[in-house]
Amino acid sequence: MSDQNIDPLKRVEDQLKKCVKCGACRQNCPAFTAFQREPAVARGKVALAQHVLADDIALDDQTYLAMSKCLLCGSCVDKCPNDVPTDEIVIAARESLAQKRGLTTFHAAVGQVIKSRARMKMGAKVASILGPLFFKKVPETSGLRLRFPAPFVGTKRFIPAIAKNSFIDQHPEVIPGEPGKPRIAFFVGCMTNFVYTDVGEATLALFRHLGCTIIIPKGQQCCGLPGMSGGDLATVRDLAEKNLKEFEKYEVDYVMSACATCGGALHRLYPLVVGKRNPELRERLDALAKKTVDASQLLRQLGLDPTETGGGEGIRITYHDPCHLRTRGVAKQPRELLQATPGVELVEMEGADKCCGLGGTFNVYHYDSSMDINNGKSEAIVATGAEAVATGCPGCMMQLSDGLKQHGSNVEVVHILQLLARRIKPR
Ligand code: SF4
Ligand code: SF4
Repeated sequence: MSDQNIDPLKRVEDQLKKCVKCGACRQNCPAFTAFQREPAVARGKVALAQHVLADDIALDDQTYLAMSKCLLCGSCVDKCPNDVPTDEIVIAARESLAQKRGLTTFHAAVGQVIKSRARMKMGAKVASILGPLFFKKVPETSGLRLRFPAPFVGTKRFIPAIAKNSFIDQHPEVIPGEPGKPRIAFFVGCMTNFVYTDVGEATLALFRHLGCTIIIPKGQQCCGLPGMSGGDLATVRDLAEKNLKEFEKYEVDYVMSACATCGGALHRLYPLVVGKRNPELRERLDALAKKTVDASQLLRQLGLDPTETGGGEGIRITYHDPCHLRTRGVAKQPRELLQATPGVELVEMEGADKCCGLGGTFNVYHYDSSMDINNGKSEAIVATGAEAVATGCPGCMMQLSDGLKQHGSNVEVVHILQLLARRIKPR
């Protein structure tokens, strides 16, 4: 059997054995909150994976569905006394199931979309033109709702509008900075590129303010994370390799992303699910991971002085920790930036580090459960009395906006960089 044909679960067999079924993971699992069933929690996933590996369980729709009920948020990994890497196990189990049963139609379609930047661009263009036919505007916001129900969307969901022109197309590949200042490659990510282009603009404004040279590689692709939801690891690997080659073209000090999810893919998941099994790529992916930083982390590191970005009115703000920043230990840097910004009053919400319920395509595949998870988050935000909630992930922004709108709340959802960039005083 060639290395590529080994059951992906075989590779995590030792990790599976580390689970002592203590159940400590139940307390923190958002999927358990939503489904209230043992198979949804990490312990249940590990047991299910053991059965799939032992080949003593039917590989039917129920098994596939049970394994899809995980947001890959990593809360169980943080809290597990035995260091069981449940997220890695779930990814391997999904791949194993996909190899044995094939991808679902939904996940195969996701793979086709994320595989090709050109296809995505075309889709975004069509969506931005035809949007008004299918969507109605939500008053007082830049968001939309479908005029009639459609699979996986419904009419409740609040959807941000697609940008007319993608962020990457609006900028040159190299934006020169001051001599001697850091050179930064910007991993933009699909949500920033096609939806929240303002987040990209804010990122540029802040790093230009610091005199950095910014490189926006034109050949960058989707990070591939949506492919992990359905076990389409072939697509994830393909995209990881393409992004690796693209970012290796440039001599830079940092690879920076303002999207927690994309940064999480480059920093943690590429080495974990691609590098581990590919000795040829391992070293190069590790080198890419080492250079990868979150934008808020880098702004702190480079000494952004928020008193220079501190113009503007007073605002009471709360902060939501994206899972893919929490798992990388980036929690204090965004808070420090907010606390140091004149006029900003940071008020902590209860459970700031709890998942918002997005979980990649979990939010599409299990929309109602995703909003059940989000309920607690929306309530916690509203209870702070904040005028705005800041975060570091465009995916979380979409989910938080949807939840807050459904709670009838007008709390503004912003990326932390938008908040900082709005206040930059001209030099
Ligand atoms: S995954 Fe960790 S916390 Fe959960 S049951 Fe197993 S050993 Fe306990
Ligand atoms: S990764 Fe998150 S959703 Fe999945 S089992 Fe662990 S705590 Fe639950």
